[in-house]
Amino acid sequence: MNDIQPIALPGVDPRRPLVIAGPCSAETEEQVIETARLLAAEGFRIYRAGLWKPRTKPGGFEGVGAAGIPWLQRVRRETGMYVSTEVATREHVAAALAGGIDLLWIGARTAANPFAMQEIADALRGQDIPVLVKNPVSPDLELWIGAIERIRNAGIRRIGAIHRGFTSIDKSLYRNHPMWAIPIELHRRLPSLPIFCDPSHIGGKRELIAPLSQQAMDLGFGGLIVEAHCSPDCAWSDKAQQVTPEALAYIVRNLTIREQTS
Ligand code: PEP
Ligand code: MN
Repeated sequence: MNDIQPIALPGVDPRRPLVIAGPCSAETEEQVIETARLLAAEGFRIYRAGLWKPRTKPGGFEGVGAAGIPWLQRVRRETGMYVSTEVATREHVAAALAGGIDLLWIGARTAANPFAMQEIADALRGQDIPVLVKNPVSPDLELWIGAIERIRNAGIRRIGAIHRGFTSIDKSLYRNHPMWAIPIELHRRLPSLPIFCDPSHIGGKRELIAPLSQQAMDLGFGGLIVEAHCSPDCAWSDKAQQVTPEALAYIVRNLTIREQTS
C-alpha cells in the first residue's frame, strides 16, 4: 500500500494539522449554515457533518439523511469550505457522490464490518475522492488495516485513517480509550498513510479536546477531525463533546507543533 497519496485539497494549507471541523450531526439547515459560517470566519477549510447517524440504540436521532445534502452544497457555495460526511452503505455513497460531497469518512462501527466495508469499496470503485477510515470500535489493528486495504483495492488513492479511540469497559476518563500504541503501530506499518485524531470521540467531553489534540500533534499525527457546533449544549447528538467554532479556533491556535522527525 505504498501508493497512498496525501489528502491534498487545492487551496488548503498542507501543513499540519489539517483540521476537519463541524457538528456531529446535520440537524437543520440553519444550524449547518450558521456553524459553517462561524468556522469559515475562523479560517477552517474542511467541514464535517453527519447525515446518516449510526446510533447505539434505536429511537434516537438517526440523521436527516440525503435531505441534508443541499445544506452541505450551500455550505460549499456560501463559505468555499470543502464538505465531508460519513457513509455506511452503498446508497449513502451514491447519494454523497451525486451530491458533490468532497470527502467521505467511514465510521467506527462500519469499519468493524468487512461486508459493509466491501460494499462501500465496491460503490467507490473508479471514483477519485478522499476517504478516511476510522478505527473499528474494538482494538483490532488488522481489522483497521483490512478496512483501509478494501478502499485502496477499489482504486482510491487519497486515503487517511482516523483514530477515534476504542471501546473499553473503563469509562473513567475517556469515552473511547486512545490506546495510542495502535495508531503508532499503524503508522509504522503504513508510513505514507495520513493519520487524523478525533479527540471529540476519544474524550467524550469538550475539556479533553485540547490535551488530546496536543498529544496527537506530539505523536506526529497529520490532522484532526473535531466536532464543533454553533450551539453545542443544544446539539441533538454528542453535545458534551462539541465546542463552539471560536473555542476550536482557540484550541488549534494554541497547539504546539514541533518538527516531525519521521
Ligand atoms: C461521528 O464522527 O460523528 C461518529 C459517529 O463517530 P464514530 O464512528 O467514531 O463513533
Ligand atoms: Mn459524534
